[in-house]
Amino acid sequence: MPQIDTATLIKTIRSIVGQERQIPLHEPEFSGTEWTLVKDCLDSGWVSTAGEYVGKFENNLKVALGAKHVIAVTNGTAALHLCLKLSGVRMGDEVIMPALGFVATANAVSYCGAIPHFVDSEETTMGLDAVALADRLSQVADVRDGTCYNRETGKRIAAIVVVHLFGHAAKLDELSAIAEKYDLQIVEDAAEALGSRYKDQAVGTYGVASALSFNGNKIITTGGGGAIVTNDENIAKQARHLSTTARLPHPWLYQHDEIGYNYRMPNLNAALGCAQLAQLDKFVAEKRTLADAYQKAFDKISGVKFVSEPENSKSNYWLNTILLDPGHESDRDHVLKATNQSGIMTRPAWVPLHHNIPFINCSRGPLPQTESIFSRLVNLPSSAKLGRKFVNPRSV
Ligand SMILES: *Cc1c(COP(=O)(O)O)cnc(C)c1O
Repeated sequence: MPQIDTATLIKTIRSIVGQERQIPLHEPEFSGTEWTLVKDCLDSGWVSTAGEYVGKFENNLKVALGAKHVIAVTNGTAALHLCLKLSGVRMGDEVIMPALGFVATANAVSYCGAIPHFVDSEETTMGLDAVALADRLSQVADVRDGTCYNRETGKRIAAIVVVHLFGHAAKLDELSAIAEKYDLQIVEDAAEALGSRYKDQAVGTYGVASALSFNGNKIITTGGGGAIVTNDENIAKQARHLSTTARLPHPWLYQHDEIGYNYRMPNLNAALGCAQLAQLDKFVAEKRTLADAYQKAFDKISGVKFVSEPENSKSNYWLNTILLDPGHESDRDHVLKATNQSGIMTRPAWVPLHHNIPFINCSRGPLPQTESIFSRLVNLPSSAKLGRKFVNPRSV
């Protein structure tokens, strides 16, 4: 097979991202009320765990998502940790999750004393493959008295984490049907998918609890931050309690009824979040327009496929992605090298989690698609501002 022509590829990307010398992968942008709100927060003196912006940010997120409860925390990993803990993940359990994704998901499982159990991903959504999940569970799972066990390890399987990779919704309906059959809860890792929708609902509102991230590279940022999203009042209550050191309500007394965490989002970060969230729709529109431009350009290039949003969903296109055609695996590193050398920041996917030392011995099903996607995937520059020149200003 002929090598992918990197010169043509660079020309194509440049035709969209422009001629600036360095094009970052994903840049945050503070062109709304960020300066005003952060200054207001500083002027008020309420920069830390008390203050009005945390509640405001949570309320605005609730409205944006159509969710009943949102609890803002220090980062997405902390949000995942509490989502898992409050969905019932305990010491010694297994949690099913994709191997293709960021290490934070597996780390959060480990913080509960549980271990990941990896299942394959699929190419259209880059999320968990429903067929592989059904196969794996039919092979290893036993449901006894409403509890699912791994027959091979004897461990309880406590939950499934669905990760919406790069902002594309995983196949929630298919995955939920399988989860239900095995009495498993779904936790959504929606860290990359704020603003994405599946069918007529925001991603992050399907699972028993979901995690969002507002790290500096995500679609909106609070510097560092995350949120727990749930429609379950009890989980919400517990999440608030555990994220604030499990302190019992009292005007002055510090007393705690269990081991809690210092996971509450500081007011300063929430002020930034309020300003950023007000621009979410605009960012999503710009990123979708950018994706559209990439899509059209890559349609003309052989050996490469642009990953567009799956059926029945709307993606925030957090990171735009191309997949080299099968047979072009050996071209990936040439593409990465050539683009980065020419000032276009591109990245491969994360090394699949089962190849990382802490997770080498975890249970897993066959992972052929995970390996294949990893060996062919390249993320492209995806900042919202790159889409701006294509957007009709009256349409956003
Ligand atoms: C960013 C991210 C996280 C973790 O979020 P932090 O805020 O960085 O802790 C978790 N899962 C996925 C898929 C992510 O992309």
